[in-house]
Amino acid sequence: MTDRIVVLGAGYGGCAAVRSLEDELGDDAELVWISAEDYHLLLHETHRCIRTPDARESVTIPVEDIKSADTEFVQATVTGLDTDSRTVELADRENVDYDYAVVGLGSQTAFYGIDGLETHALTLKSLGDALAINEHLTEATREGSRSDPAQVVIGGGGLTGIQAAGEVAAWADEHGAQMDVHLVERSADVFPGHDHEFQGAIRNQLEAHGVEIDTNAAMTGVEDDEISFDERDSMGYDVLVWAGGVTGQDALESADIDKDHNRAYTDATFETSDERVFALGDSALVHQDKEEEPLTEEAVWETIVDDDLADVPPPTAEAAWEEGEHIGENVARAIAGDEREHWAYMNKGTVVSIGDAAVAHDVIGIPINTFGGPGARIVKKGISARWIESITSVQRAARSWSDM
Ligand SMILES: Cc1cc2nc3c(=O)[nH]c(=O)nc-3n(C[C@H](O)[C@H](O)[C@H](O)COP(=O)(O)OP(=O)(O)OC[C@H]3O[C@@H](n4cnc5c(N)ncnc54)[C@H](O)[C@@H]3O)c2cc1C
Repeated sequence: MTDRIVVLGAGYGGCAAVRSLEDELGDDAELVWISAEDYHLLLHETHRCIRTPDARESVTIPVEDIKSADTEFVQATVTGLDTDSRTVELADRENVDYDYAVVGLGSQTAFYGIDGLETHALTLKSLGDALAINEHLTEATREGSRSDPAQVVIGGGGLTGIQAAGEVAAWADEHGAQMDVHLVERSADVFPGHDHEFQGAIRNQLEAHGVEIDTNAAMTGVEDDEISFDERDSMGYDVLVWAGGVTGQDALESADIDKDHNRAYTDATFETSDERVFALGDSALVHQDKEEEPLTEEAVWETIVDDDLADVPPPTAEAAWEEGEHIGENVARAIAGDEREHWAYMNKGTVVSIGDAAVAHDVIGIPINTFGGPGARIVKKGISARWIESITSVQRAARSWSDM
């Protein structure tokens, strides 16, 4: 009997998983790939489309250019995973049965119950989100004047918020827009918990781009044109982008696997509490080989904040990519009844873009802690190029170079 392996999601985890499964599975396995869109989105560069909508050509890659001809692709929204009947439940389509499922559905924006936030804020989790921010900026600029500039507020000073603020500021500069750009963060620093030198370099770059940074600013509620905060004055806004956090996908809510906030716990082999379900990327809490109990979601976020807590990889494109490269072998081993390989996360460094500039920290093989300038820009571009090349071709990576 042929085993059917179903991969959910076409993000970093899903794409890398499909490629490694295609390499590892023999002829007795059937590979089905299900995702909401028929393209892979380079989410980690999607903020580029806020400033340059045409960059959509570079940040989207058709799944047809990634998978082999033998892999079946189904464009559909996953609504659930029934582990008893081994069925993936789909919206408006017939469900798909599996022998093994690989869950790579990523994450969704978390609003933390802040009153009015979900209703009023734009988010940045898709191509459509980035293009919508661009449209709102254009609209807000029409109303702005030198004496009364448009107020754009980005909530959340992590990777998404910093890079979004950088693009908005660069857009305002390029368009000569009368616009104030605020980055609002509830912690005491931007990029909370990271190295102080790195935080300082990011802050300097943001300020050089004209971004006003408000730290220790915890949003408590949002109305039509005003944001209220804990222990500080409220702030008017024309455009509000919320990038303050992510949580697991609703699609995993009813799945009968051990999870926290819809992120599946796995061990270091990517296997969940159900031996037929593997998970990776933002959808998973990949527990490394240590003796402790699984971490809570709060503790996972601590890993971004505290380098010593390297037990669970952070929710990044880089971690999802690496996990995907290894998962194929373990699914093949599960099918063959062999022992699974254990994987361990290694931080290779972090690079953050701020408009056309970039700041890099702790990059493996580079003996400088924190650096910017052309070196950091090239590292940032190089990471994206390497990713694109790994799932498609050098030619496509080269074509995308100028948009990254
Ligand atoms: C603006 C921004 C900038 C970032 N910058 C960086 C960075 O510089 N470096 C870095 O390492 N990380 C960065 N990240 C984080 C990084 O993008 C994520 O950690 C990464 O995308 C996780 O990969 P994934 O494969 O788990 O999920 P994703 O890449 O989110 O992919 C999930 C896939 O599942 C599909 N999907 C979701 N729900 C459903 C459903 N119900 N049904 C069917 N399909 C579904 C989606 O369409 C998508 O194809 C950034 C994120 C953002 C938003």
